[in-house]
Amino acid sequence: MSNSPFLNPGLRTTPNGLAIVQLSRDQFQPVYLHDAAGGEVDGYAEGAVLNTRFGSFPHSTMIGVPWGSQVRASVVDTGSRGRKRKRGDKQGKQDKTPADSVLESVAENAATPTSDAPTPTASSAAAAPPPPQAASGFVHILRPTPEVWTLSLPHRTQVVYTGDYSYILHRLRARPGASIIEAGAGSGSFSHASARAVYGRQFSAAPPQPTDAKKNGHVYSFEFHNERYRTMQAELEGHGLSGDGENDLVTLTNRDVYANGFLLDDGTSPEADAVFLDLPAPWRALQHLTRSATADGKKSALNPSKAVYLCSFSPCIEQVTRTVSMMRRLGWVDIDMVEVANKKILVYREKPELVSGKACTGEAGKTVPAPRDVGEAVARLKTIETRTREYNQKYWQQKDAEARGDDDAADKKEEDVDMDEDATPPPPPVPSFMEGRVTSRVEPEVKTHTSYLVFAVLPRAWSEADEAAAAARWPVGN
Ligand code: SAM
Repeated sequence: MSNSPFLNPGLRTTPNGLAIVQLSRDQFQPVYLHDAAGGEVDGYAEGAVLNTRFGSFPHSTMIGVPWGSQVRASVVDTGSRGRKRKRGDKQGKQDKTPADSVLESVAENAATPTSDAPTPTASSAAAAPPPPQAASGFVHILRPTPEVWTLSLPHRTQVVYTGDYSYILHRLRARPGASIIEAGAGSGSFSHASARAVYGRQFSAAPPQPTDAKKNGHVYSFEFHNERYRTMQAELEGHGLSGDGENDLVTLTNRDVYANGFLLDDGTSPEADAVFLDLPAPWRALQHLTRSATADGKKSALNPSKAVYLCSFSPCIEQVTRTVSMMRRLGWVDIDMVEVANKKILVYREKPELVSGKACTGEAGKTVPAPRDVGEAVARLKTIETRTREYNQKYWQQKDAEARGDDDAADKKEEDVDMDEDATPPPPPVPSFMEGRVTSRVEPEVKTHTSYLVFAVLPRAWSEADEAAAAARWPVGN
């Protein structure tokens, strides 16, 4: 089993594991969470600290939390590294809910200019003196996936985005057990997505044999830029996708594929079922993607017993025409070109009855009165959040008990929370009318052009011997 957090992330973040910290809707930061047991780091007594414009987050507050958790900023003395930190808010894992924030801000906004009295707030902590440095923000801790990696990876080149690679992998028939050639590797965006797509064994009615050459699928990636190659190799090893021998999913080779093709350094063939080219001159690489052995006696890099699917990703039409012309000469068929035009559809819940004072129709056609005032709207929000939090707490207790193999505890929790794998999502903790109407908004503009995707298929070679074998197996009726 792979130990890559992209493939087997477990239920919670782990010490020294990779997590993607979501700072805002479109801002993500990959972080290896360092265990505080090592002691002071960079002058912080908490150990390593992630400093962002939303506040400071000691790694210790982000370790051991379920994926998707919200973590609040803690107060650390960022201005005096090397000196002892001022111990402040240690409640990183104790979430302040949006309702808390609403309640506090509502209370603050409600202070009348005529009153000199201190503004009453929902939290008695508000009466305490302000901390040395405000710990106002929060982040979400996301499990690593190719999608969030694409949004957070350090860009060394243009990258292939999710909208394109999801379609490409589908057209390439990328599936567990498949072998894929990729060139150039660039920043590794496509490599991560394709590694996940091929992870696992190919489905077969026969049980796997010890002599099976391919345990999992594999991505054979090529990059000629030495610096990019080295950076990406280190990244792949950090992500548990390479450097682990038998469990490797990606083999990265430092190679100019125009000149030297796609065999591995030891001369073995990737026997690729699919090929993805993201190169400035893909037509120059095609000469190495043929069925027959090359003129210099090298083997074919393609799977001899299957049709091979190829996609070439090119930003301009001149590259497309040259590539298509070369494909036709080399026997590729079913050539077509696609452009993926992304439009985001934002789906969200409106809460008009909670915040704007409008009445709405609730369950079973009953009219629900609008809240009388802001206080009542906030109270409704609080109810929703409290019930959701209680539910989630029980859910995670049960999951942890299951992970520990503690059947008694898991069963006990099941009595409290009627949850099994197939029963998600749970019944809503409050009537749905209190959660607001589901609505959506479509981006008016199509995103800018990414690239043209040229697809093609190279049929398998078919000899007289193949025909004889096929005829013997499936005799044609006389
Ligand atoms: N698909 C990648 C991703 O999703 O991150 C981005 C690929 S980037 C646009 C193109 C890469 O091809 C560059 O890193 C470049 O160094 C590499 N490259 C260009 N010519 C090459 C060649 N002849 N052999 C191998 N790699 C090459």
